[in-house]
Amino acid sequence: MSVLIYIDHSEGNIKKSSLEALSYGAALAKKLNTTAEAILLGTVKEGLDIAGRYGITKVYHAADQAYNNYDAQVLTKALLPTANNAEVIVFAQSALGDAIAPRLAAVLNAGLVSGAVALPETENGFVVKKSVFSGKAFAKVKINSGKKVITLKANSFGVKEREPANAEIINISAASSESKIKTIKIEKIEGEIPLTEAEIVVSGGRGLKGPENWYLITDLAHSLHGAIACSRPVADDGWRPHHEHVGQTGVQIAPNLYIAIGISGAIQHLGGVNRSKTIVVINKDAEAPFFKAADYGIVGDAFEVVPKLIEAVKKLKSEN
Ligand SMILES: Cc1cc2nc3c(=O)[nH]c(=O)nc-3n(C[C@H](O)[C@H](O)[C@H](O)COP(=O)(O)OP(=O)(O)OC[C@H]3O[C@@H](n4cnc5c(N)ncnc54)[C@H](O)[C@@H]3O)c2cc1C
Repeated sequence: MSVLIYIDHSEGNIKKSSLEALSYGAALAKKLNTTAEAILLGTVKEGLDIAGRYGITKVYHAADQAYNNYDAQVLTKALLPTANNAEVIVFAQSALGDAIAPRLAAVLNAGLVSGAVALPETENGFVVKKSVFSGKAFAKVKINSGKKVITLKANSFGVKEREPANAEIINISAASSESKIKTIKIEKIEGEIPLTEAEIVVSGGRGLKGPENWYLITDLAHSLHGAIACSRPVADDGWRPHHEHVGQTGVQIAPNLYIAIGISGAIQHLGGVNRSKTIVVINKDAEAPFFKAADYGIVGDAFEVVPKLIEAVKKLKSEN
């Protein structure tokens, strides 16, 4: 019985979070002394043999356009025959992973842990560490069933390349099933880096005073090739669109660098950003709670600090 990793893709590109899931699945397979295999449903631009770089020996591929629609019911059915031969099935935690994993676990009668942050301990059963309470605590969950389903929290394991090796591609025609929904229209947000995929995120809060000052956030984000985010009240007040709101009730992110400007650092905000590798806080109030979670802090007025920061980034870039 192998470890099977689900490869998620968007517009023909494999998502970074799936490369991390492949790395995690390969390490888990090694620990369980079995093979790591992967499955991709839908069409992609890249050669799937690259999965070998992450320790995968076989990739099952059902290249059917029908699987490019995010219909979790259809994808779960298509996954089943391959998942039946696996002991552990790994997903990257995402909207799609969170939709398929529990469905698959229910059909396979498998134990499910969502939001794993480390490789399972296998010395005494199968124990998975996951983050709980919006990242404020960890729980260790033992899966007792023979089959297991895991979703992996983004940026908790990392993308790990191994010795270059090609994976064998096995084309399959997965069971087609009639979709119960019909996608009528897809409206894409053009030209922006998706928050969940971004390495750098620049985020603004009510300290920016109004939408007319948002150029400070966008200019800094663009100079760093980063994505733009905001606190919830900023979206609630209509200064910014809701898809930019991060936190417990918004998008949960874990970039390498999170720059929070004029954001107090309420627990509900931190719940969505506290897994960022490095947090930089700019706030004029030295007592702002966000400073307790920050790796670097600047106590100062955003309207003075941010233009200087943008200037410094531009200067650095022009010198290199
Ligand atoms: C159930 C629930 C769920 C929630 N979910 C979320 C969520 O997902 N995400 C989220 O963000 N919030 C969420 N909230 C709201 C959260 O509790 C806070 O109210 C919110 O995060 C505060 O936003 P803010 O920091 O932008 O604004 P404020 O709390 O008003 O803070 C503004 C900050 O800007 C600083 N500031 C002011 N002027 C300047 C300046 N010129 N330069 C620099 N700094 C300045 C101030 O010192 C202050 O710290 C939720 C609340 C509830 C009850």
